[in-house]
Amino acid sequence: MPSFPANVAIREVGLRDGLQSIPSILPTERKIEWISDAYAAGQREIEVGSFVPARLLPQLADTAELVAYAKTLPGLVVSVLVPNLKGAERAIETNADLLLVPLSASHEHSLANLRKTPDEVVAEVARIRAARDAAGSKTLIEGGIGTAFGCTIQGRVEQSEVLRCMQALLDAGADRVSIADTVGYAGPSAVRELFEKARKIAGERFWCGHFHDTRGLALANVYAALETGVARYDATLAGVGGCPHAPGASGNASSEDLAFMLADMGIETGIDIPALLALRAKVAGWLEGESLHGALWLAGLPKTFAAPAALNA
Ligand code: ZN
Repeated sequence: MPSFPANVAIREVGLRDGLQSIPSILPTERKIEWISDAYAAGQREIEVGSFVPARLLPQLADTAELVAYAKTLPGLVVSVLVPNLKGAERAIETNADLLLVPLSASHEHSLANLRKTPDEVVAEVARIRAARDAAGSKTLIEGGIGTAFGCTIQGRVEQSEVLRCMQALLDAGADRVSIADTVGYAGPSAVRELFEKARKIAGERFWCGHFHDTRGLALANVYAALETGVARYDATLAGVGGCPHAPGASGNASSEDLAFMLADMGIETGIDIPALLALRAKVAGWLEGESLHGALWLAGLPKTFAAPAALNA
């Protein structure tokens, strides 16, 4: 039997990865209610938005307000995505706990999505690190390597290129690195192989796995990654999400289904699943007409389900 981590963090990215890919614009007060309810349900890591120009992503224009609110919740790790130094400066000003800089291991996806080559992103991370240090800020810098298992534009993405980018990000001053299957091309054996190699390079600085459920394998991929000891996963409530530059990349791993699988495995997440399902129902009402995902909400929790806390009592 492989030994799994005893505790796993589910980082909620629905407010960023989810909302950026759908046309509905959720009002700020509803996003605040989402963050508040997610926190009450036990979620302790939330990516609240992205510091990109509002004309590009009007859905995320209120990110600074959301960081300010989220920072009032004790113990919540508040993260934001930033595409460049300008965004990072805003993340540092607003005192976000973590800023994630996306790098696409696919050269062509990188040019289409970020208008930079992977090496230009690495150079930007070095500038962000210098700015962070000059500001005396504690904001952590995470380099998130996307399209790590292939890409809708370029097709194949070599493992060696993903690992080269990872080493380059660490050398440029990233505090954390992570791997994302942006378009849902990964399967468990590829995940196990790449995550094992990534752990050898980055050790504990290998921070997070990010899987899309485009082909139904997001949870299987998390399971494979758990076997390599990685203990943090991005997920979105109701599986909302995708990538505007990767057609067909719909649906992140759904937070509630992932919490359910981990609870079943005896892995502690701190999440109250019924409370998360109640929040899902609320958000589904707000996002009426958008396509949502996940399986647990349809059937509900099994009668035999006991929360880990009850088992330990
Ligand atoms: Zn994603």
